[in-house]
Amino acid sequence: MSDLKDLYQEVILDHNKSPRNFKELCDSNRKANGYNPLCGDKVTVFLKVEDGAVADVTFVGSGCAISTASASLMTESVKGKSLDEIELLFQGFRDLVTGKPVEYTELGKLEVFQGVSEFPVRVKCATLVWHTLQAALANTGEATTTE
Ligand code: ZN
Repeated sequence: MSDLKDLYQEVILDHNKSPRNFKELCDSNRKANGYNPLCGDKVTVFLKVEDGAVADVTFVGSGCAISTASASLMTESVKGKSLDEIELLFQGFRDLVTGKPVEYTELGKLEVFQGVSEFPVRVKCATLVWHTLQAALANTGEATTTE
C-alpha cells in the first residue's frame, strides 16, 4: 500500500512539475475562471465543445501542487469524452476525494487523488478545476469560486 501511495505521489508531483495541456486554447468556444480563496488557487479552463463532446481542453493558472496536478489530469481525462461521461467522471472523482464509496469504475489515473480524502482542506484544491469545467460547460461566463 505504501508503494501505491508513493506511486500516486509521484504522478501528482510529475503533473505539477510539467502540467499537460497548460496553455490557452485559441479556438475554444467555452471558457471559465475558477478561484479557491482558501488556498489561493486560480484556474482558467478553455474548452472546444463539438457534437456534445469535449474535442479539446486546456487550462492556465497558478496554485498549489494538488490543484495544478488535478487540472492537468482533468484535461487528460475529459478530452474526447461526451458531456454525459464527464458528468459521471466528476461525480466519481468527487466521491473519491471526499472519501465516499466510488461507484464509477472508469476513473483511471484520477485515482491518484485518493489520498486527498485524508486532508479535507485539500478537497477544494482538487475539485476546483472540475467546478470550473462545469461552469465552462454551462457557459455562464461567470467566475466560479469554491465558496
Ligand atoms: Zn490549493
